[in-house]
Amino acid sequence: MSVSIWMDKSRDKKTIEQDIVIIGGGIAGLSAAYWLQKEDPTMRIALVEKYQLGDGATGRNAGFITCGSVEHFNRLVGKHGEDEAKEIWNYSEVNLQLLKDEIIQNREKEMLFEHKGSFSLASTPEEFQELKNSASIMEKMGINVDIIDEAGIKSRLGADKFVGGIKYVGDASIHPLHMLSEIRDKIEKTKNEVTFYENHEVFALDESGGDKVVRTKQNTFKAPIVVFATNGYGPQLHPFFEDKIFPTRGQILATEPVERFMEAPCYANFVLDYFRQLPTGEMVIGGFRQLQKDAEIGYSDETSAVIQSALEDFLHQHIPAIRKAKITHRWSGIMGFSVDGQPMVGALPTDPQCFFLGGFTAHGLGLAFHSGKVLTDSMFDRKIPNFITAKRFS
Ligand SMILES: Cc1cc2nc3c(=O)[nH]c(=O)nc-3n(C[C@H](O)[C@H](O)[C@H](O)COP(=O)(O)OP(=O)(O)OC[C@H]3O[C@@H](n4cnc5c(N)ncnc54)[C@H](O)[C@@H]3O)c2cc1C
Repeated sequence: MSVSIWMDKSRDKKTIEQDIVIIGGGIAGLSAAYWLQKEDPTMRIALVEKYQLGDGATGRNAGFITCGSVEHFNRLVGKHGEDEAKEIWNYSEVNLQLLKDEIIQNREKEMLFEHKGSFSLASTPEEFQELKNSASIMEKMGINVDIIDEAGIKSRLGADKFVGGIKYVGDASIHPLHMLSEIRDKIEKTKNEVTFYENHEVFALDESGGDKVVRTKQNTFKAPIVVFATNGYGPQLHPFFEDKIFPTRGQILATEPVERFMEAPCYANFVLDYFRQLPTGEMVIGGFRQLQKDAEIGYSDETSAVIQSALEDFLHQHIPAIRKAKITHRWSGIMGFSVDGQPMVGALPTDPQCFFLGGFTAHGLGLAFHSGKVLTDSMFDRKIPNFITAKRFS
């Protein structure tokens, strides 16, 4: 966005001085605010969001809270080795535990939270074999997984034409916006100095007297520290992200509710496609960006006929109970894919006053709450895991 001198109403107002300005009001920004105010309630924190809180990917995802990354675990081990792959897995297990302890508590129903695991399903014997290999590595490492065959998929998930799969027993699912509201409520109910500024789009970032100056049309903010919680939108705000975080569109559709038949959420086709039945009966299905790889890069949140009809075909082919259900919603959102598939947390190697948490590569619900805590650790000079630190790009 560019802003003319005439549009810039902040020029007539006093600059708002803060200790930290967080840009971005999704799960990452809220998690950062949550953990920072917990660390020091006297810290003055402004959270600045372009639209309403949750209007980015956080309010548009499928609500899976899963462990690991966007690939089968055997591939994660191939890339990172066993120890780091386990560390990556544990990181998201901790994320879920922190969410349960700090946010969900006894409000599972209100947040449509279910801790029933998730499945990865194979359409071919080759993928099933790979999943079984993954499962045996995971079992050796003490990760709780079960193998499921074609008949089990049919009876427990109501899904056809899959040859087998595995269940990640520890995974969960949620209503992402209810979770976000709960984090906000928890922040607002505690005595601290956090202020939310919605409908504030940051259009420029300057420097003055050693501080960062964050400019929006409505207000100008000044602080020694800026946190970018902008995930896929990072490259629009700072050149550091241009070759590290890639805005990647994901598309979804949802149907009217039908009687509950699925045990837990499912991934298919090497984690590219996914579907789940909500506790309230609606079916949500997303993926297929592999069909239009180039068109799915960028910032447009439109949907495309090619991918939407592939989602419909998938439903008809694999999920008989939903064949007659009316499609009620179609939408898309922008994810931030990182260059190596792992998130990025901490100060930018090029600027110690700029921090980032993002690059969640389609798994922000499984990563961001813990990442807010780790970001706080990095600000207070405590050690953070190597696989996640932004310093790995120095
Ligand atoms: C279709 C889809 C399905 C998904 N399914 C899942 C899933 O089931 N499970 C899972 O774990 N993950 C899923 N994801 C990914 C997940 O949604 C993201 O990883 C997560 O929401 C990222 O959170 P965030 O806060 O980092 O980013 P966002 O939620 O995108 O927040 C970034 C915020 O920054 C704001 N912003 C951008 N530019 C500016 C600016 N200039 N000034 C001020 N504010 C600005 C945006 O408006 C936005 O609100 C899915 C994503 C999509 C799109």
